[in-house]
Amino acid sequence: MDVLHAPDHGHPAATRSRPEIVNARRMARIDNCSRHEYYAPSQRLEMDLKHIPLTGLPSTGLGLEVADQAVWYEPLQKYAVQCRIAEAVSAEVLLLPQEDGCLIRGKIRGRVVLPCNRCMEDTFYDLDHDFDEFEAFPGTSPGDDAPGSADLSPEESLVSMKDGLLFLDLASLLWEEFSLALPDKPLCKADCKGLCPSCGRNLNLGACGCSAESGDERLAVFRNMKVKRQA
Ligand SMILES: [Zn+2]
Ligand SMILES: [Zn+2]
Repeated sequence: MDVLHAPDHGHPAATRSRPEIVNARRMARIDNCSRHEYYAPSQRLEMDLKHIPLTGLPSTGLGLEVADQAVWYEPLQKYAVQCRIAEAVSAEVLLLPQEDGCLIRGKIRGRVVLPCNRCMEDTFYDLDHDFDEFEAFPGTSPGDDAPGSADLSPEESLVSMKDGLLFLDLASLLWEEFSLALPDKPLCKADCKGLCPSCGRNLNLGACGCSAESGDERLAVFRNMKVKRQA
């Protein structure tokens, strides 16, 4: 099935209130998810990861497996994150409907390459991230309609409503979780020696000439400073 040329079943009302969706190419098709239950094949093209229907979910939940790498590639490029996919990153998600929202339980597994925080060399990192999020349905949170309640503005919520049906922006949720799964300061090895601050040599490959003599380069300016003693 050639889903790439399927007509765009976008949701104009939803995209109007969320400008970022207008420019974002559709990240992935449901064709790249395996559906454990519920959705009939005829509905497949209606779904994409930015608009997962939440209305009428079975009470036991809906499980999805996301294998399409575009869900990571596109935001990695868009936000110029220094991270490459080394081995396919996959996500398993269980959508559990609640009275006033949806529990999203899932895990992200895969392997990425990041620059070492000290020496900038490629560093492999295994993603092993479990998450448990709750997205409230619009208008169901106490005080949601109260003026000044900033917790659940339409811009922040990943649940949108279109024609009385609720949709989850799963792509954005997965990207947030992917970002959380990345290490703050990846190291190629625990004792990485980093780069020489004066010549830039990777000190893991051996010492450079300048490191022994000059000491801390930030203090070098003081070394030749002459202090005039006042009479
Ligand atoms: Zn390093
Ligand atoms: Zn050096």
